[in-house]
Amino acid sequence: VFNFAAGPATLPENVLLKAQSELYNWRGSGMSVMEMSHRGKDFRSIIEKAEADLRALLDVPEDYAVLFLQGGATTQFASVPLNLCQPDDTVDYLVTGSWGDKAFKEAKKYCKPKVVWNGKSENYVRVPSFDGLELSPNAKYLHICANETIYGVEFKNYPVPGNPNGILVADMSSNFCSKPVDVTKFGLIYAGAQKNVGPSGVCIVIVRKDLIGNTQEITPVMLDYKIHADNNSLYNTPPCYGIYMCGLVFEDLLEQGGLKEVEKKNEKKAGVLYNAIDESKGFYRCPVEKSVRSLMNVPFTLEKSELEAEFLKEAEKEKMVQLKGHRSVGGMRASIYNAMPLAGVEKLVSFMKDFQAKHA
Ligand code: PLP
Repeated sequence: VFNFAAGPATLPENVLLKAQSELYNWRGSGMSVMEMSHRGKDFRSIIEKAEADLRALLDVPEDYAVLFLQGGATTQFASVPLNLCQPDDTVDYLVTGSWGDKAFKEAKKYCKPKVVWNGKSENYVRVPSFDGLELSPNAKYLHICANETIYGVEFKNYPVPGNPNGILVADMSSNFCSKPVDVTKFGLIYAGAQKNVGPSGVCIVIVRKDLIGNTQEITPVMLDYKIHADNNSLYNTPPCYGIYMCGLVFEDLLEQGGLKEVEKKNEKKAGVLYNAIDESKGFYRCPVEKSVRSLMNVPFTLEKSELEAEFLKEAEKEKMVQLKGHRSVGGMRASIYNAMPLAGVEKLVSFMKDFQAKHA
């Protein structure tokens, strides 16, 4: 089966086989990773290696902390303002899709966020030109969603905050580790694991250390970056098995040659699919502006929308599943994360061509 789900999503087969081979007995310990104490030396070695490999992959500088947390990216919508500003502080949100909008709405409970641009009226098909943006000169941070999973809009370069002392914050849930990123351009990056790097239940935060330790008074202990950083993500029981799986994925990405190589593969896959859409003479259509089309999530509609149900049914018969677009936009969406092989995209494209020939 080729699984085009937006997340939880397909994981590399070799990683799953490796996990299977050590499911009952992790490296001679006689225990499954699920059964280990998070304070024992075995699990410590697992989380330390996961962190070291992620640092190597993204070239994370020493002055940034890497945290393995719970609560998904959604919890970060609150954690970010609670840790980075006080109730009266201004912060900027650039909204290029519904995840950015959700982040903004959550921030309203904890500070004074301002939407500096909102793509909603155009159905979220683009990213604005950074030149014309009216950014707040005093904003503590500027928040973006680096890849809007539902609409398939991806930043290819990044805006600079209006405040020279402000920082850029990015939700990278759906393009994390899909390409190299200059971490130093950001004060904070967060990402739910369940798209490119592991099972759901782990959320990774990469945050500049000097930004830690200024939480609002009401911040729950579980949302306080300082608590997690001081305890190396082991303040309470972490999602041990999920962290272990992320570690196996990081190892695999390094073995593939690192994120430059991974990006090349992702560009190739996305290119094959977008070309097929663009060359279909309007039978298929991707509404997103070409310059910001996502390498990870490819939304498309059928000119004859009445054929959508049949498209999905036929695709499923051919063992291509989860191609239905998000309920808020309809149409189709092919999520082609790191673990989707080129063969999966080629099979989809070949199916799309056959379907068009049958129905054009
Ligand atoms: N941000 C983005 C870009 C997402 O795609 C998602 C989920 O799919 C979320 C946030 C929410 O993540 P979670 O379900 O882990 O809270």
